[in-house]
Amino acid sequence: MPITSTSASRLPSPDDSQARLQQLVQRQRAFFASGKTLDPAFRKAQLRLLQQAIRRNEQALFDAMYADFRKPAFETFATEVGFVELELKLTLNKLEDWVKPKKVKETILNFPSRSYVHTTPYGLTLIIGPWNYPFNLLVAPLVGALAAGNCVLLKPSEIAPHTSAAITKLIRETFDEAYVAVVEGGVEVTQQLLAQRYDYIFFTGSSRVGQAVMKAAAEHLTPVTLELGGKSPAMVAEDADLELAARRIAWGKFLNAGQTCVAPDYVLVQEQVKDDLVQLLAKCIREFYGGDPRQSPDFARIINDRHFRRLEAYLQNGTIRAGGQTDSASRYIAPTLLDQVTWEDPVMQEEIFGPILPILTYRSLDEAMQVVNAHEKPLALYFFSSSENKKEAVLRCVQFGGGCINDTVSHLANPNLPFGGVGGSGMGSYHGKSSFDVFSHQKSVLHRGTWLDLPVRYPPYRDRLRTLRRLFRWL
Ligand code: NAD
Repeated sequence: MPITSTSASRLPSPDDSQARLQQLVQRQRAFFASGKTLDPAFRKAQLRLLQQAIRRNEQALFDAMYADFRKPAFETFATEVGFVELELKLTLNKLEDWVKPKKVKETILNFPSRSYVHTTPYGLTLIIGPWNYPFNLLVAPLVGALAAGNCVLLKPSEIAPHTSAAITKLIRETFDEAYVAVVEGGVEVTQQLLAQRYDYIFFTGSSRVGQAVMKAAAEHLTPVTLELGGKSPAMVAEDADLELAARRIAWGKFLNAGQTCVAPDYVLVQEQVKDDLVQLLAKCIREFYGGDPRQSPDFARIINDRHFRRLEAYLQNGTIRAGGQTDSASRYIAPTLLDQVTWEDPVMQEEIFGPILPILTYRSLDEAMQVVNAHEKPLALYFFSSSENKKEAVLRCVQFGGGCINDTVSHLANPNLPFGGVGGSGMGSYHGKSSFDVFSHQKSVLHRGTWLDLPVRYPPYRDRLRTLRRLFRWL
């Protein structure tokens, strides 16, 4: 039975749906084998179709994300739709350069020769997205995968169902499903998808599921990129511009109601300036969202009841210095500052992923760096200071995916900075040219001249070892 758009998404029984997924994968393999995606002109035409579809569906995407977690249109444009549009624009402008084989330097050992690195698509790629930036984190990798010439199976998160439906509609009205397809569904569907063989898997989500993805990929030796999470610190030294630090930390933390993988998870501030910083953070919350943030059109809600209950429970420990109000009916949690927290409290045991900001202190920078290094390598780190020596020490001594000095989150806005984690926060990176690179195999090829064929490498070697050794040491 042929796969139709609807049949692929409403999967009746596990056996049945597994067979349908297999068919879909086979159709995508056949499409890739046709060689159509190897033509850069084809890729650009498809990226333009995606660009037009996003513009056409902009309002539907705003509505979907508002329905899922009351995400303000400004934030949806800045961090989802507009973000992907910028990625598309850059890719369309640069693709011809990126696909050109790159000539590399020769070695005299191969004289006469020329060497090139050719970028080729992997083939069939699976992209699995999370719910927190449900459009961006699925479609930004899609841009890179298509630019590199792959066929793509997309799996949006079921936890943002309106956005999942809006993406499915957008993709199905734009692409032949043998080229780009969407499969909606929850854990079971993702597991069925992971049972198939792909040439590349790009996963964004939690470290726990990342492990399951990597295990499934290992079955077929499929390479993976894992964009995971973790507890990203905002470190504030006593010599920082505290007012600016407070404003930029509050913005990065409460954007998307704290449901951002690179949000500052907690503040680690030098103890003598803690009270000043807490007061300034509380002032920023009032300035951003008013006296009652529940009334603000600019503050999102928690994605579902499970996450709401998990976050609400964090408020049992520590001292609330601002916020703390909750409303289960609307899944509202006020922007909250939590003081007197220890590393043993539940809020410090896992990634918070909500609008609760614990404030911890340190005495010396060495101590602060040791604390961060004693935990999983974070996806992001933010350091606020006016001292060049301190900035250099943090950059040298602490391992983290990426981050900012004297700001939060904004490193994602520069497409020239590869974005990704390290250790527990992931592997591989993307954005801008890195998105093209991550979905491309680097095929290294030597073109050897035919007019000369020195016999020195061929047996019998006789007494050539000494000459060879001298040549190697001279090189
Ligand atoms: P998640 O890991 O629960 O889900 C991600 C995807 O995996 C979803 O599509 C889901 O359907 C699927 N999934 C869930 N459980 C599964 C299982 N047992 N087997 C197979 N598939 C399964 O993540 P989430 O809750 O959607 O997103 C939040 C997490 O993602 C946080 O940890 C956050 O830090 C991380 N994140 C990372 C980045 C990044 O760029 N590094 C960006 C956003 C979110």
